[in-house]
Amino acid sequence: NERLLIRTEKLNTAGELAAGIAHEIRNPLTAIKGFFQMIKQEGHANNFYYSVIDSELSRVEQITSELLALAKPHSENRQDLNMVQLMEEVTLLLTSEANNKSIEMTLQATKKEIYISCEETKIKQVFINLVKNAIEAMENGGQIQIKISEMDGNIVVQLIDQGFGMPKEVLEKIGEPFYTTKEKGTGIGLMVCFQIIEGHEGTIQVDSESGVGTTFTIALPLSKRPFPS
Ligand code: ADP
Ligand code: MG
Repeated sequence: NERLLIRTEKLNTAGELAAGIAHEIRNPLTAIKGFFQMIKQEGHANNFYYSVIDSELSRVEQITSELLALAKPHSENRQDLNMVQLMEEVTLLLTSEANNKSIEMTLQATKKEIYISCEETKIKQVFINLVKNAIEAMENGGQIQIKISEMDGNIVVQLIDQGFGMPKEVLEKIGEPFYTTKEKGTGIGLMVCFQIIEGHEGTIQVDSESGVGTTFTIALPLSKRPFPS
């Protein structure tokens, strides 16, 4: 059973990151350009050319939209947000994707309202990325449990999946820009998650066992403002 506490040193400097992004985007662009040249030379296109161009454009689109969440690394537009409600929205968004793979998602919270101060779109992005990864890790159906509680001035969100888990080699690398084990992965999702949680003074812990499953534990400071209960 492997455990990893994400540290900041994992995150590359801006220069390295820029080089990685440029590389990731250049590959599909090179392919698109190549196929356009073929069409030009041959005077017409066939379905194969179109489908390659289409999928490479989608990839560029996916990479750039995932990266957008990083645009403002230090969060300033914060609002008090009920995390229980946000997690309900996230599970709702991904229900059909889960259903398609016979995955049941359950949400348990110790209270109906637990507030944090955050940028809603970014925090939502984090949990969408994490739940998506959980769904993608589960090939034979099963359960994804989401547990929300409070501890020591933090909200604690646990995402427990029954997916293929991660061996030590993978666990050590996750969150590095563009590190992926998936054929069509981008390796951007976790990097963005770590960056955003860090920007909100939170922590992410990962426990994983190959063939058994993975638990992501996210802690974020509770909102300081008092709320009527
Ligand atoms: P991507 O999903 O595009 O591969 P991510 O940054 O979201 O990129 O994830 C990086 C890698 O971390 C994945 O390719 C996978 O190997 C591993 N991973 C992330 N979440 C899980 C999970 N819940 N279970 C197993 N492996 C995971
Ligand atoms: Mg992902």
